[in-house]
Amino acid sequence: MLFQDPDFQKLLLLHSRDRRYQKLVQELEELPHELDRMDEKIAVEQKSVELALAEWKNLESQNNTLEKEILSKNELIAKQRNRQLEVKKNEEYQALENEISNLLSKIEEQENEQIEVLLKIDDARETAEVAQGKISERVAEMQEQRDKRASLGEERKVETEELKTEIEETRKDVEPSFLATYDRVKKIVSRPPYMAPINDQKCTGCHLRVSNDVVSSVLVEKKITQCDQCGRIVYVER
Ligand SMILES: [Zn+2]
Repeated sequence: MLFQDPDFQKLLLLHSRDRRYQKLVQELEELPHELDRMDEKIAVEQKSVELALAEWKNLESQNNTLEKEILSKNELIAKQRNRQLEVKKNEEYQALENEISNLLSKIEEQENEQIEVLLKIDDARETAEVAQGKISERVAEMQEQRDKRASLGEERKVETEELKTEIEETRKDVEPSFLATYDRVKKIVSRPPYMAPINDQKCTGCHLRVSNDVVSSVLVEKKITQCDQCGRIVYVER
C-alpha cells in the first residue's frame, strides 16, 4: 500500500506543512485589515465619549452665559431704579420704567431658557458619566484584544518563517518523482488540499465519485494516483 510507504508519508508531511504555511500566510495578510477594523471600532467608541463630554461642556457654558446676562440685566435694573429717584420729569421717569419692564421680561425669558438648559445638563451629565465609565471600560477591553491579536500576529510571523525553512528541508527528503507530481498538482488545483483520501469511492477533495480505475490504482499499484475529476493526489488511509 502506497499510504504506508515511507516516501508517501514524507509527501503527506510536506502537504500538511504546506497547508499550514498557506493558512498562516493568509492569516498574516488579513491581520492588518483586522487590526484596522478593530482600531476603527475603538475610535468610534472613543468619539462617542468625546461627543458626550463636549455636549455636557457646551450646555454648561450656555448656562454660564445666561447666568451672566441675567446678572447684568439685574444690575442695570438696579441702576435705572436709582436714576428714577433722581429724575424730575415724568416722561424721563416713564422712559426708565419702560426700560426696566423691558429688562424684566427679557430676564424672565432667559430664566425659562436657563431652566431648560439645566434640565438638559442633568441628562448630559448622566450620559457623559455612563460614557466615561462603561465605554472607557469597553475601549480598554477592545484595546487589550487588539494588542493580543497584534502580538499573536508577531508570533505567527516567526512561526511562518520557521515553517518555511522546515518545508525546504522536507522537500529535500521527498522522493523526486513524487515531488514533481505534487508540484504539478499544486499548479492545477486551484484550492488546497492537494492530496485527499478516498472515502466511499469519493475523492474528499472535490467530493465527486472517482472511477474504478482510480480506486484499483490506489489500492494495488505503488504509484501516485490522481483523482480523475479534480486532479488531486488521492490515497486510501490504510
Ligand atoms: Zn477529486
